[in-house]
Amino acid sequence: MGVSPDLRKLVIITGPSGTGKTSIASYLLDVLNDWLEFSVSATTREPRPGEQHGVHYYFMTVDEFKERIASGDLIEWEEVYPGKFYGTLRSELERIWSKQKAVLLDVDIKGALNIKKQFGNQALLIYIHPGSLETLQERLLKRGTEDQEKLKERLERAQWELSQAPEADIIVLNDDLHDARSRVLRYVKGFLFDGIPEPVEREP
Ligand code: ADP
Ligand code: 5GP
Repeated sequence: MGVSPDLRKLVIITGPSGTGKTSIASYLLDVLNDWLEFSVSATTREPRPGEQHGVHYYFMTVDEFKERIASGDLIEWEEVYPGKFYGTLRSELERIWSKQKAVLLDVDIKGALNIKKQFGNQALLIYIHPGSLETLQERLLKRGTEDQEKLKERLERAQWELSQAPEADIIVLNDDLHDARSRVLRYVKGFLFDGIPEPVEREP
């Protein structure tokens, strides 16, 4: 690893719900604990069992979220699912950068492209691809965190989300989780410490 790299950088993980973003992000945060920190988003969706306010998300009402928009506190926000708003807080970027760490974001593709547009080469956009919609469905069913209706909503959106993969800097196929997370780690290290993206992975 290089000496005193400029870590005012952003690593953006995107991809449809159930593709493995959280699994890969938590591995990156473990291994790069001294270099990378998670940007906690604001959301109006309900917490899942085990999710903590201020750790996984800042959970808030739609009114509170709209106040945050009006105050200019969000660098981007999206209504990812009907009535469910998600957004990136400007204060999270400053909080993390002030600790001389880079920011790790888990955001939807629209938010990811929005951030990429604002930060250009300061940001690396990695798309985690499940391989197929069927694989995604299996993973979401196995995770068991969504009811039938929410599952349907997520899968419907996933079709469009998968078509957006080529917009990312790198597409990583998450077939085997151990293998995929190692590849993502390699790309992130390259971006943070060398600044030169490695040859881009473009499968599938
Ligand atoms: P996301 O954050 O993108 O919604 P998760 O990280 O929660 O996705 O993963 C969804 C589910 O799929 C979890 O139960 C996770 O353990 C599982 N999973 C992740 N990657 C793989 C993989 N390569 N093979 C099989 N299951 C996986
Ligand atoms: P989940 O409800 O599964 O945690 O997240 C649903 C979707 O919202 C995922 O695609 C996730 O990446 C996205 N998301 C989470 N936080 C943000 C955010 O701050 N902004 C945007 N645009 N999307 C987000």
